[in-house]
Amino acid sequence: MNAPTGSTSAPRLRIAIDGPAGTGKSTLARTLAARIGGAYLDTGAMYRVATLRVMRAGIDPDDSAAVIAASADLPLEIGTDAGSERILLDGEDVSEEIRTARVTAGVSAVSAVPEVRANLVELQRRLASGGGAVVLEGRDIGTVVLPDAEVKIYLTASPEVRARRRTEQDVAAGRAADYDEVLAAVIERDRKDSTRAASPLRPADDAVVIDTSDLTLDEVLDRLVALAEGADASHNDAAEGNAQ
Ligand code: C5P
Repeated sequence: MNAPTGSTSAPRLRIAIDGPAGTGKSTLARTLAARIGGAYLDTGAMYRVATLRVMRAGIDPDDSAAVIAASADLPLEIGTDAGSERILLDGEDVSEEIRTARVTAGVSAVSAVPEVRANLVELQRRLASGGGAVVLEGRDIGTVVLPDAEVKIYLTASPEVRARRRTEQDVAAGRAADYDEVLAAVIERDRKDSTRAASPLRPADDAVVIDTSDLTLDEVLDRLVALAEGADASHNDAAEGNAQ
């Protein structure tokens, strides 16, 4: 497992970015991390790897007991470099396969299992604990994984806008995509992710909520950079104050 870069003596700046699929979250989180020289962790990719393992074992994602057994001791390796996505299952690079519609359709059932979440949340906290700046993106970062993060952002957008963005992304990546099917899948995944008992998708009480429906990626990025820089400045002031 790669530890985030950054000196352990540097003041920590942990940025939690949550929200449903299709808000531009991954692109924004990764670009923000690169911009501020921080580490980046895509927690959704971790739930996708757990789901891939379950599916490869021929297990029904709705069979919780079998899912728990298949995802215990998950041989997962994930990098925290904003410049490259590298995620390994048992030493095999699965960064493409975890994005297939089959895995996407199963991931909400697997991620709803509390035991699966407990294992991955522990790993996420470990990967975020290296010091320096780190950007974590997911569904429960501000509420559960890092409830005391210095910056919490919740990105949202209408289901139609998110489905259109997802369709365009899939087509650009060479994956077959039909807007109506993507829209139905987006609505269904939102429903499952926000109504599950364990760590449902919701903004933290102290999150800055940004509706990206009518904003370009660059416009959202400018707001995220401003929030990160503002928090970093007050953070450093506080650290200097403590040292005096
Ligand atoms: O972000 P992404 O679309 O890759 O996430 C895939 C799925 O993983 C989500 O639909 C959700 O079910 C699950 N997830 C989660 N908690 C996170 C990140 C993702 O439950 N922190």
